[in-house]
Amino acid sequence: VMASMAHLQKEKLQLQEELLGLQEKLAAQENDELSLSLQLQGQVETLKAKVLEQAQEISRLRSELGGTDAEKHRDLLAAENERLRQEMKACEGELRELRRRQQQQQAPCRDCHHLQENAGLQEQLSQLQREAEETRAKLVELELEVQQKTNRLAEVELRLKDSLAERAEEEERLSRRLRDSQETIASLKSQPQQIKYIIKTVEVESAKAKQALCETQSRNQYLQEQVAMQRQVLKEMEQQLQSSQKTEAQLRAQIVMYEAELERAHGQMLEEMQAMEEEKNRAIEEAFSRAQVEMKAVHENLAGVRTNLLTLQPALRTLTHDYNSLKRQVRDFPLLLQETLRSARAEISQAIEEVHSTNRELLRKYRRELQLRKKCHNELVRLKGNIRVFGRVRPITKEDGEGPEAANAVTFDTDDDAVLHLLHKGKQVSFELDKVFPPQASQEEVFQEVQALVTSCIDGYNVCIFAYGQTGAGKTYTMEGTAANPGINQRALQLLFSEVRGKAADWDYAITVSAAEIYNESLRDLLGKEPQEKLEIKLCPDGSGQLYVPGLTEFRVQSVEDINKVFEFGHIKRVTECTNLNEHSSRSHALLIITVRGLDRSTGLRTTGKLNLVDLAGSERVGRSGAEGSRLREAQHINKSLSALGDVIYALRSRQGHVPFRNSKLTYLLQDSLSGDSKTLMMVQVSPAEKNTSETLCSLKFAERVRSVELGPVSRKAELASWPSQEQLEVTKELLGDSPGSAATPGRGHASHSPGQLSSRSASIRRKLHTSG
Ligand code: ADP
Ligand code: ADP
Ligand code: MG
Repeated sequence: VMASMAHLQKEKLQLQEELLGLQEKLAAQENDELSLSLQLQGQVETLKAKVLEQAQEISRLRSELGGTDAEKHRDLLAAENERLRQEMKACEGELRELRRRQQQQQAPCRDCHHLQENAGLQEQLSQLQREAEETRAKLVELELEVQQKTNRLAEVELRLKDSLAERAEEEERLSRRLRDSQETIASLKSQPQQIKYIIKTVEVESAKAKQALCETQSRNQYLQEQVAMQRQVLKEMEQQLQSSQKTEAQLRAQIVMYEAELERAHGQMLEEMQAMEEEKNRAIEEAFSRAQVEMKAVHENLAGVRTNLLTLQPALRTLTHDYNSLKRQVRDFPLLLQETLRSARAEISQAIEEVHSTNRELLRKYRRELQLRKKCHNELVRLKGNIRVFGRVRPITKEDGEGPEAANAVTFDTDDDAVLHLLHKGKQVSFELDKVFPPQASQEEVFQEVQALVTSCIDGYNVCIFAYGQTGAGKTYTMEGTAANPGINQRALQLLFSEVRGKAADWDYAITVSAAEIYNESLRDLLGKEPQEKLEIKLCPDGSGQLYVPGLTEFRVQSVEDINKVFEFGHIKRVTECTNLNEHSSRSHALLIITVRGLDRSTGLRTTGKLNLVDLAGSERVGRSGAEGSRLREAQHINKSLSALGDVIYALRSRQGHVPFRNSKLTYLLQDSLSGDSKTLMMVQVSPAEKNTSETLCSLKFAERVRSVELGPVSRKAELASWPSQEQLEVTKELLGDSPGSAATPGRGHASHSPGQLSSRSASIRRKLHTSG
C-alpha cells in the first residue's frame, strides 16, 4: 500500500508538472494571440484612420472641386492604398506564420485529451481569422471600388473644370464684344449717317450677335445641364461612399463580434481547463483519501498483528519449555517403557492367571448349573405331566361316501379346545383330552404343539410320539403327511437341523436316523440290506440298563435332502416287500427313530436324545368280526401290542412302580424312551363320519383311559420332593392323630380348607404314601 501511495504521489507530481508546462504553453500562446490581435487591431485602426482620411480627402476634394492638386491627392491616395495592401499582406503572412507555430506547439501535446478541445477552439479561431480575412478581402475590393470611383470622379471633375473654364472664357469674350458693340452703337449715334449705316450694319451684326448669344445661351444651358448631371453623379458617389462606409461599419461590428467570440471561446477554454484541473484534483484527492483509508486499515491490522505477536510470545516461551520437557521425556522414554513393559507383563500374566482360575471356577459352576437346570426342567415337565394325549379329527373325505353314513358325528366346544363331543347312537358323549385338533387344523398348527417336545430331544431327552387310531383316521397323514404338506417327521427333522445350526458355535451334533417296522411281534429294519431278517432287542452289556438293537441300520443325516432320501428308501423297501401296502401298513407299526448326539466343545459334556415317531397299526377290532387264521393272529398281535402300550402309558402316567414294558415288542423297544425323563405324546386320530362312530368311540375311550389318571398337584409336589416336606408331615400327623372332623379346628392354619378339599388332599397323600412305600 505504501508503494502504491508513493507511486500515486509520483504520478500526481508528474501530472502537475505536465499541467504546469501546458499552462505555460497556453500562456505563451495567449500572449502571442494577444499581441497578434493587438497588432491586427492596430492595423485595422490605421486602416480605419486611412479610410477616414480618404473620406476626408474626398469630401475636401468635393468641396474644392477642381484645382490641380486633386490629381496629386489621387496619386497620393493610390500610393497609400498600395502601401496598405502590402502591409496587409505582410500581416497575413505573419498571421499564417503564427498559426503554423501554434500548430507546431500543439503537435507534441496532442495526446493530452483536453488539448483536443484546445485544438477545436483554435480551429474556431482559425475560422474566425479566415472570416476576418474574407472580410479584409471584401474591404480591399471595396477600396478598389472606391479607387475606381475616385478616378472617375477625378475625370469628371477634370472635365467639369475644362467646361467651366471654357464657359468663363466665352462669357468674358461675349461681354467684351458686348461692350465693344455698345461703344460702337454710341459712336454711331453721334454720327447719324454713319450711324444709320452703322445701324444697319449693326442691325445686321446685332442679328448675328443675337444668334451668337442664343448659341452661347443654349451652350450655357447645356453646360448647366452637364453640371447638374455631374452633381447627380457626385450625389450617387456620395451615396456609394455612404454605403461603403456602412459596410465598413458592419465589417467592424463583425470584427468586434468575432473578437467577442474569440474572447468567449478563450474563456470557455479556460473554464474547461479549470474544470478539468478540478476534476483531476478531485480524482487525485479521492485516490489519496482512499489510499489513506486503506493505509489506516493496514496500520490497524499491523497493530493487531503486533498485539497478537506480543500475546504469542509468552505462549511460544511456554511451548519451547514444553518442547524441552517433552524432549527430556522422549530421551527417558525407552527406559521408562522397558520398565513399564516389564511391570505390565508381570501384571498381565498375573491377571491371566487370575482369569484362568476364575474361568475354571466358572466352568465348574456352569456345569453344575447345567445339571441343575436339567434337573429343574425335568421336574417342571414332571409337574406338567410328561405324558400328553391329543386328539385329531380328520375332515370328511370322498372315501367316506355320501348319505347319512358320511354325516358328521363330531362337534367341538368353542370355549375349550380340549373337549370333543361325539354323537353315538343318538347319545352325545363328551371326552376331555389335553388338546383337540378340529378337521380344519393344519399340519403347521399340529406341529406347533409338538415343537417343544422335538427340541427337548437336542437337550438329551427321549421323546415318543405315537399316532393311534383306526385305519383311515389320518395317522400316516399326521406323521408323514404329503409331499406338499409334510407331517411331523419331516418338520421335526427340519426343526432339529435349524436348532443344531443355531447351536453350532458351542456344540457339535450328529443326527442319525433309523427306520423299523413291527409286524406280528417281529422287528424288521427298513433301511437294512436284509429286510426280512428279524432283529432282537438286547440289553447293553455295559450294565447301564440301556437297550439296543444289534444290526439296526443308522443313517447319518446332515440336511433335509438326506432325510428325503432316507424316507424314500424306507418306503421303497416297504413297498417291495409287501404286496398290499395299505393293508400291510394298517397291520404293522412303523417307527422312525432319530438320535441326536451332542458334544459341548467348551465343557466336554455329551448328550444323547432320541425322537421316536411311531405310526401305529390300525386300532379297529378285527377279532370281533370273526376273523380266522393269519388275520386273527394279526388282530391278536395288534390288540396285544396296542393294549400293552395302553397299559404302559397308564402305568407311567399313574406312576406305578411296575411298568409292563416287556409285554410287547413295541413297548420293550421304546422302554428307554417311555420311562425316566422321557416325554410321550399320544396323538389319537379319529374319523368324524357317522359310520365310524363306534371305532371313534373306542379310540376316544382308549385316549381317555390313558389320560384318566389325573394326579393332584400335592401328590405331584410330594413326588417331586423325595422327602416329605414340613407341611406334609403336619398333614400326616393330622391324618394319623386326629379324627377327620377335627381337621377344621380353628387356629391350626388350615381353617380355610373345606372338608371336601381336605379329604381329596388326604386321599392323594394317602396314595402317595402308599406308592412311595
Ligand atoms: P391311517 O394312516 O390312519 O390309515 P391315513 O393317514 O392314511 O390314515 O388317512 C386316510 C385318508 O384321510 C388319507 O387320504 C389322508 O390324506 C386323509 N386325511 C387324514 N387326515 C387328514 C387331515 N387332517 N386333513 C386332510 N386329509 C386327511
Ligand atoms: P424281568 O424284567 O425281571 O424279566 P418282567 O418285568 O418282564 O421281569 O416281569 C415278568 C412278568 O411279570 C411280566 O409279565 C410283568 O408284567 C409281570 N410283573 C412283574 N412284576 C409285576 C408287578 N409288580 N405287578 C404286576 N405284574 C408284574
Ligand atoms: Mg396308515
